[in-house]
Amino acid sequence: MEIIEKAPAKINLSLDTPFRHLDGDPEWRMVMTAVDLADYVKIESASDIVGIQVETDAGFLPQDQRNLAYQAAKKMQQLFAGHQGVRIKIKKNIPVAAGMGGGSADAAAVLRGLNKLWRLNLTRTEMAKIGLSIDSDVPFCVFSETALVTGKGEIITPLNELPSMWIVIAKPRASISTPTILKKISYSDLDHQDVDRVVKAIKKQQVPQLFDAMGNTLEELTTAELPEIAKLKEKMIKFGASVAQMTGSGPTVFGLCSKHSRAQRVYNSLKGFCEEVYIVRPCNLSSPKE
Ligand code: ATP
Repeated sequence: MEIIEKAPAKINLSLDTPFRHLDGDPEWRMVMTAVDLADYVKIESASDIVGIQVETDAGFLPQDQRNLAYQAAKKMQQLFAGHQGVRIKIKKNIPVAAGMGGGSADAAAVLRGLNKLWRLNLTRTEMAKIGLSIDSDVPFCVFSETALVTGKGEIITPLNELPSMWIVIAKPRASISTPTILKKISYSDLDHQDVDRVVKAIKKQQVPQLFDAMGNTLEELTTAELPEIAKLKEKMIKFGASVAQMTGSGPTVFGLCSKHSRAQRVYNSLKGFCEEVYIVRPCNLSSPKE
């Protein structure tokens, strides 16, 4: 028995961390959306093996217990299936260590896939809780639709779909790990975001207000390490993006355009400058089960 799950990348339209919990984890307040740049994860419930096998077409990624998809299968095995084997094959399209939640997307795909294959009938909220122990972005990726994300990442409140728009994504050559940036946060110096304004603009489908309210609290910290981020943003705006911003802890930058022709112009201007550039639309993996 096998199933193929789409695992979309995420971007942060708004990102803030109001405080750090006593255990050191950040409290998040973010608006996230899934985009049509996705990995594809084939999940097989295999009776000829007892453990978990992971294979990816990206040679540099770990294929053992360090892979987040492996960790998701392990959790599900421990909770629901004893020694039932799981075989996972990942077709990797999402840039790695880019702030686009690629590993979390794969882990969430495994949770959704095994939920179906093993007929567990878990709700998305239940899978989100399981996912939080793997990475703070896994709960959102279980939903993969436009949502307000709070708590340590596990409280997902779906919002309306975004107004029609095109998203140009550009990943600088350098990567940066999330823990490196999180360690640099000094809460008293953070430039906090008004995330609720973004939520309100999405609810009212007000595009100019949405673009105006967006922001990422971590952008300054990552840009101090990688000044290329500021240059990419500048280029995006110069060539017609209405707004340009870093996603997650970076270093990927995205620009939003209401018209495809503008997005194409931004894309063309970045293509020679940056190796990985994409034009995508928001995507919604909606599920009837809550
Ligand atoms: P986030 O925005 O959630 O912090 P990211 O997009 O910046 O994550 P990922 O692409 O998830 O980063 O990769 C971060 C690290 O996770 C990499 O160093 C990679 O080796 C490891 N990793 C483990 N499993 C995976 C996977 N299935 N896909 C990508 N990276 C993975």
